[in-house]
Amino acid sequence: MTRRAGVIGSPARHSLSPTIHTAWLKAAGLNGDYGLYDIAEAEFEATVEKLIGLGLVGLNVTVPFKDRALALATAADPAASQAGAANVLLFRSGAVEAFNTDGVGVRFALAPFFGDAPKGKTFVVLGAGGAAAGAAFALKSLEDCQVHMVNRTPERAQALAERFGAPVFGHGWPDLAGLLPRADGLINATSMGLEGRNPLVIDLTGLDPAAPVMDMVYKPLETEFLLAARRRGHPTIDGLDMLIGQARPSFELFFGQKPDPGVDVRALCLAELERRAR
Ligand code: NAP
Repeated sequence: MTRRAGVIGSPARHSLSPTIHTAWLKAAGLNGDYGLYDIAEAEFEATVEKLIGLGLVGLNVTVPFKDRALALATAADPAASQAGAANVLLFRSGAVEAFNTDGVGVRFALAPFFGDAPKGKTFVVLGAGGAAAGAAFALKSLEDCQVHMVNRTPERAQALAERFGAPVFGHGWPDLAGLLPRADGLINATSMGLEGRNPLVIDLTGLDPAAPVMDMVYKPLETEFLLAARRRGHPTIDGLDMLIGQARPSFELFFGQKPDPGVDVRALCLAELERRAR
């Protein structure tokens, strides 16, 4: 029987998840299918119900449904429950299980610079939404690491810091200048810089030029934030690596095996983006 999964969002049509999962399914020779469900905001719960009825094994969840995904789940992993957001729903034996693999994606994207288990590093995360919370959850357990969340609405960052406890700390934008000289890595987890929104423009003075700068935004892939960082000499990480990193555990949850690491999904995504731009 064909195992079916997919991505649900509003909008979801820009998603590269079908490109990634379909390539892994093909490489594994699995009888599986990965669809795309671009729905109106009001239709989330009803659509999930319908897809469960149609026999889907699970869904990746994207904007703006990650908190509603967690709310309709009957069980959640610690990453999803602590972040307050789920990017994976798994439908098993009548239960709806929620997971958050965004943090795994962040660790995957940072690994070329910090290794699999960074020690004694200080990360500054801009934002305090679901993606920032997933990142903080993944980084807080690293040995002797600190995570400083800096958000336009400081109360949101402070509430997350309280929930996570030390070494996660919450701040407002005015604290950023004082934090940058202590940072080993800087991550944009706000939605600024997304196509159609204002770019993220911040003063990076004080940040060590050797510190990697990452942007979770992958549409566009080259954000003004990353370009400005590169001009200062920083190594940069775009949002595609995180997307691929969060997709790996999702694939395993849906299809029961790890994806083939030999498939160059980054190259396939870049080709797909180029095809869409034509
Ligand atoms: P979210 O829950 O809506 O959070 C948005 C965040 O951006 C909040 O912290 C918000 O601050 C901040 N923000 C929005 N507009 C702002 C502005 N004009 N000035 C300052 N801050 C602003 O979104 P999310 O799900 O966390 O996603 C955040 C970003 O990560 C999005 O761009 C998303 O596409 C990206 N993402 C990428 C991946 C990947 O795999 N690459 C995965 C997940 C998410 P307030 O709290 O003050 O409103």
